[in-house]
Amino acid sequence: MIKSSLHALVEAGAETVVFVSGSATGSPCEEAQRLEGGRIPINLAEATPLAECTQTDSCVCRYDEWPPAGSQEAKLKTWENDGGRR
Ligand SMILES: [Zn+2]
Repeated sequence: MIKSSLHALVEAGAETVVFVSGSATGSPCEEAQRLEGGRIPINLAEATPLAECTQTDSCVCRYDEWPPAGSQEAKLKTWENDGGRR
C-alpha cells in the first residue's frame, strides 16, 4: 500500500488539495470515482485509502496540491501572498 501523500502536502504548506483516484488493479473504488478531481481544503481531506474504500489493497488514491505548481492559479496565489496590489 502506498503511503498517503497528505502529510507531505501539509508540510509543504498546501491549503487546498485535489483528489486523484487510482487503483493498481483497474478501476478505482466507487468512492474514489465520486471524489475524482474534487478540490478540498486540506484540513478536511481524509487520509487515503478512504474509509469507504472497497479495495484498500490495490488503492493508490492520493492528493495533489491545488493549484498545481506552475499553473496560472499558482502564480496568482503567489502574487497575492506577496501582497500584490489591485
Ligand atoms: Zn480507493
